[in-house]
Amino acid sequence: MGTKGKEIVNLKTEEVVRLLNKAYADEWFAYYQYWVGAKVVKGPMRPAVVQELEEHAADELKHATKIVDRIIQLGGRPLLKPADWASQANCPYIAPSNEHVVKVLEQNIKGEQCAIEVYNKLLQYLEGKDTLTYHMVLEILEDEVEHEEDLETILEDIKLCK
Ligand code: FE
Ligand code: FE
Ligand code: MG
Repeated sequence: MGTKGKEIVNLKTEEVVRLLNKAYADEWFAYYQYWVGAKVVKGPMRPAVVQELEEHAADELKHATKIVDRIIQLGGRPLLKPADWASQANCPYIAPSNEHVVKVLEQNIKGEQCAIEVYNKLLQYLEGKDTLTYHMVLEILEDEVEHEEDLETILEDIKLCK
């Protein structure tokens, strides 16, 4: 990042990078949880669920891309090994070992709720100090709130099928 670009970050960039790397690990887990969930899920309304899970997987990958680009712009180094995702992530990876739609949706809702908490805290930390990172995190948080709502709605519909 250029001189002035650095000057407008009123936080230790190493700390911002550390927190972004943790969120970056979360995004890879979220991506994979949705992606593999879409492959194995079974039960009522399967096509609609698969479509939603695939869309969310694509969104999580976009989040990872935004975050890694900002890490690099800040002069930081992104996590380079998948093994680091497990040690750095804020939110646990929840394997869809029970592939029933209800279970898969409930697990992904938990994941979104964890993400919402993480990004909301991160916003509080960044507010007024690193506007560009703040703006990026705000955009991601908007998506996570939408994801949670989409999953809760579809789960509600499935429960009404019974
Ligand atoms: Fe995300
Ligand atoms: Fe999400
Ligand atoms: Mg959606």
